[in-house]
Amino acid sequence: MRTGIGTDVHPIEPGRDCWMVGLLFDGADGCSGHSDGDVGVHALCDALLSAAGLGDVGAVFGVGRPEWDGVTGATMLTHVVGLVDAAGLTPVNAAVQVIGNRPRIGPRRDEAQRVLSELLGAPVSVSGTTSDGLGLTGRGEGIAAVATALLWLK
Ligand code: MG
Repeated sequence: MRTGIGTDVHPIEPGRDCWMVGLLFDGADGCSGHSDGDVGVHALCDALLSAAGLGDVGAVFGVGRPEWDGVTGATMLTHVVGLVDAAGLTPVNAAVQVIGNRPRIGPRRDEAQRVLSELLGAPVSVSGTTSDGLGLTGRGEGIAAVATALLWLK
């Protein structure tokens, strides 16, 4: 078994589409970034790369790689799953927690878990929390996410 962790934080960009944990949330502002700003998926990708010993999201999809400009979370996760598989590892499960005031994860948790689990090929648990008004997530300036992943050596 191999375990890994991932973290991501992006600023909120008013008016931008809000992609989070693989879903488009109407009525919420999304995050800026050279991708779709889905910090939940980015943290999950980081956790998978961490568990596989393959570095991090910055190394794989870094700003210096224009071919990944505007990339969706689904495309990033699919690419990372391929890297993990090529490294001789199989996902066992993963968990993602989004920290922020909006979007509200709970009402769409099942949908997010279905989408991410299908992309990963293993169960993904999705949760949401707030920072109780404290810090950049509490002030609504940004959204953070943390993730863990467990892989099995084939
Ligand atoms: Mg990111």
